[in-house]
Amino acid sequence: MAIVGAGLVGSLWARMLGNRGHDVTVYERRPDPRNQNLHGGRSINLALSDRGWKALELAGVAEAVRDIALPIRGRRMHAVDGTKTFQPYGLEGQCIYSVSRAGLNRILVECAEQMPKVRFAFDHRCHGYTRKEEAVHLHLETGGHAMDVEVDQIFGTDGAFSAVRGRMARNDRFDFEQRYLAHGYKEVPMLPGPDGGFQMEEDGLHIWPRGHFMLMALPNPDKTFTCTLFGPYEGPDGLNALDTGEKVKAFFETHFPDVVPLLPHLVEDWNRYPVSSLVMIRCWPWNDGGQVALMGDASHAIVPFYGQGMNSGMEDCTILDGLMDAHGSWDEILEAYTAQRKPAGDAILELALKNYVEMRDLTGDPAFLLQKKLEARLQKAHPDRWIPLYSQVTFSHIPYDKALERGQQQQRAMASVMSKPEAWNHYEDDGWMEHVLRHLEQETSRAE
Ligand SMILES: Cc1cc2nc3c(=O)[nH]c(=O)nc-3n(C[C@H](O)[C@H](O)[C@H](O)COP(=O)(O)OP(=O)(O)OC[C@H]3O[C@@H](n4cnc5c(N)ncnc54)[C@H](O)[C@@H]3O)c2cc1C
Repeated sequence: MAIVGAGLVGSLWARMLGNRGHDVTVYERRPDPRNQNLHGGRSINLALSDRGWKALELAGVAEAVRDIALPIRGRRMHAVDGTKTFQPYGLEGQCIYSVSRAGLNRILVECAEQMPKVRFAFDHRCHGYTRKEEAVHLHLETGGHAMDVEVDQIFGTDGAFSAVRGRMARNDRFDFEQRYLAHGYKEVPMLPGPDGGFQMEEDGLHIWPRGHFMLMALPNPDKTFTCTLFGPYEGPDGLNALDTGEKVKAFFETHFPDVVPLLPHLVEDWNRYPVSSLVMIRCWPWNDGGQVALMGDASHAIVPFYGQGMNSGMEDCTILDGLMDAHGSWDEILEAYTAQRKPAGDAILELALKNYVEMRDLTGDPAFLLQKKLEARLQKAHPDRWIPLYSQVTFSHIPYDKALERGQQQQRAMASVMSKPEAWNHYEDDGWMEHVLRHLEQETSRAE
């Protein structure tokens, strides 16, 4: 079998196939990540949550990853006037984990290589494939030379600009959509303080919501934070307008005054790091017969605002692994995989886009914050009847499409009390809970 792309999903999938005794080669266009400090213009750290952990556990690599994972219990919001508020992500003990992209990738490659029949071929770029009756030919280039290998299966885990998908796109009736967000991002590091410790609380994802743009900071085990400014490219507050050191400084002093003293090298760092774009990919089907499958960003690249891109790619591995037990032939396995995962991929794309608006616009809004509090109370009192949408996505294995549908029903049920100010005043009185739950039951039975 061949896997194309030794990123987060490809190396995890190699380990899973290796666990089953398959003979696997992973072809990766870049050099071995263990010999490099690769950044590749993408986030330095990532939020790992339950769907990712489940896949890591299934693969038998979760313990190795735990060593580099930093628990994050909630959002720490920063208002312009310096007021700070904390919003826990879920129930007591529920958290997401910050992990270094490079560190995680190295661990996954190492864990896959421990399998006797798994090997990695770095510096091998894929240029597509040709399906034949009995086998499939993978077209590669290494050291300036073309090379073909004949395999039974190809798994395209080569990211948002997948060459495997590029070849698949020539098939009749293959749907493909690529869309860029009008917003981009830039990362700058926040170094440890003079005492060598974190400069802000390390148990939170820090957010400075400012309407059409926002700053975020996620901690790293080395006591740094990775700060990311997300905003539109165009317009007076746009990333393109921040083209001199003075403008960058003035922008931060106006909108994020509490961060400025914590970023003494802001202007230097701003000039050193690139502005990166945010792309979304949708396609269908995710397989070419029983021989080729797309996984991870190759099939469903999304914006990063739910922290689910990698997690959903890892969930692809969990689901595909399960389908290998449920079906006998690869034709059946990959048909079932595409049928099951495509609606989930579309749903998380939509959820991630919506969460951008929530993070930059609503997280500072009193009505929104009250709703979050009410939902948390509801979940605590009726955990079997109410799981907030964020928890369904982050702390459960409910398919994303079901979570999206249920979340919309819950939103309508909550709107029925949020529109009545008397409910706000009776926050301490639990009568509103029955009202919301009744409304939700009506919504659910209508949908059924
Ligand atoms: C700013 C930002 C923040 C993010 N934060 C989070 C987060 O907090 N949580 C989360 O879950 N997700 C997050 N994501 C999403 C996450 O990064 C991706 O979903 C994840 O990296 C997808 O993994 P992958 O293995 O499918 O693809 P990739 O990680 O892109 O790996 C693809 C691999 O394929 C290789 N490759 C590409 N083309 C070829 C070729 N032709 N031949 C051979 N090899 C090839 C590449 O070199 C690469 O190694 C974030 C993304 C961004 C941009």
